[in-house]
Amino acid sequence: MKHTENHEHARKTMVETQVKNRGIHDQNVLDALAKVPRHLFVSEVLQDSAYTDRPLPIDCRQTISQPYIVALMTEALQLSKDDSVLEIGTGSGYQAAVLAEICKTVYTIEKYPELLDKATSVFRRIGYKNIVTKTDDGTLGWPENGPYDGIIVTAGAPKVPRLLLEQLAEGGRLVIPVGNVTNQKLLSLTLEGEGVKEKRLGDCRFVPLRGEHGW
Ligand code: SAH
Repeated sequence: MKHTENHEHARKTMVETQVKNRGIHDQNVLDALAKVPRHLFVSEVLQDSAYTDRPLPIDCRQTISQPYIVALMTEALQLSKDDSVLEIGTGSGYQAAVLAEICKTVYTIEKYPELLDKATSVFRRIGYKNIVTKTDDGTLGWPENGPYDGIIVTAGAPKVPRLLLEQLAEGGRLVIPVGNVTNQKLLSLTLEGEGVKEKRLGDCRFVPLRGEHGW
């Protein structure tokens, strides 16, 4: 019980100091971050660090993003409750859970079955019923369930995978880090008719996106 209260307190402080104070004002995003128990998505030894201002290691040499980056990317997707979203790189499952609080259905693809098994058991434990998962190469997207109102890539890509843009609905947003292995620009791309509007959200450093249209 004491632990639960500590985590809840740490989560509130995280939202105030790391997210709100840095300019994230979308109430849906703030509410989702205040609700999702981030500590359940990391290993037991890291649970007390779950609400600190940094990324943390998960299995298979991957990482769970810093809370602020999760908030920034989620805000850029501009999702509402009837929307469906595709995530590439389930990892711990934390970002997918944040999305599941905001929109109707989250489709998420992970390369490593071990990571997906863990994430799926956390989704079950918390009670998410609107997250659909598969193990695959996410750079190919998931055309069967598209088009999507938003697509989020949580690993660094060498370039924007064309297939992902093709699976966006008109007006849909693709949020993706693009660059080299150690340094990327976080981009938000909006599909507008025949064209794509690009917005830069800042510099970032994600683990590499592998696969056919990745590294
Ligand atoms: N969104 C995650 C962060 C995961 S880190 C979270 O909230 O915890 C990036 C993840 O992308 C890793 O788990 C990695 O295995 C996965 N990944 C890398 N290339 C991929 C690909 N082509 N398809 C699917 N997942 C991929």
